[in-house]
Amino acid sequence: MNLKKGKKFILLLLGALFMVVGCSQNSNQLVMVTEAGFAPYEYYENGEIVGVDVEIAKEIAKELGKELVIKDTAFDVIINELNSGKADFAAAGMSITEDRKEKVDFTIEYTTSNQVIVVSKDSPYQSISDIDLKEQRIAVQLGSVADTYVTKNYPQATLNRQKKFLVAAEDVKNNKSDCIIMDALPAEQLVSKNPELKILDGVLFSDSYGMAVKKGNKELLDSINKVLKRLMEEGKIEEYILQFGGE
Ligand code: GLN
Repeated sequence: MNLKKGKKFILLLLGALFMVVGCSQNSNQLVMVTEAGFAPYEYYENGEIVGVDVEIAKEIAKELGKELVIKDTAFDVIINELNSGKADFAAAGMSITEDRKEKVDFTIEYTTSNQVIVVSKDSPYQSISDIDLKEQRIAVQLGSVADTYVTKNYPQATLNRQKKFLVAAEDVKNNKSDCIIMDALPAEQLVSKNPELKILDGVLFSDSYGMAVKKGNKELLDSINKVLKRLMEEGKIEEYILQFGGE
């Protein structure tokens, strides 16, 4: 080997080493990104992230013959995690929206959800028709569809954006917010753990959940869709929802 070739070789070697060390993912791993404060879909139990989305993700990893790695982050950075290549797919009770479709590719929808309003148990309101949202201090999860909904429709309302629903719940308990707008099943679980809260009757709006991949990652999208289709046909998603305490 002459000197020039030798130099090239060392550079190549260094490059390869850098890729192995510098890459958070290796090809045997499938990295799911989520926000694990969203029972029954993803939440901590005995230090481990469990839930409906996790069960589905395990099936996806099995289908691909890969090891599932779960990355817990704030909900509002999930899309960025995908687009920067730090995660392969998002499974986070994520509603399919036109805005998000511009940034990521969604799978088929695998379940539907309703947005509801959580208030203090002492609140005189019973139904969402009793409440005038524009006069409320509303807590939402930062970057959620509820955040977008209030921003668009009730610009006069006071919006308290929180990263965690647990913090939003504390806000209502401590009279810093009047209500939380959030997904129905996570709301039920939140209220069951916080008896100082209740859910108003009625639905604000409905949406559908999809998983997401980086735009153009058709191969992974097709694999996930295949698994989702099979699980839906087998009634597994409803089973998972019941298993993790949903209704
Ligand atoms: N479904 C809601 C959304 O997509 C909330 C999801 C979540 O907080 N994990 O915005």
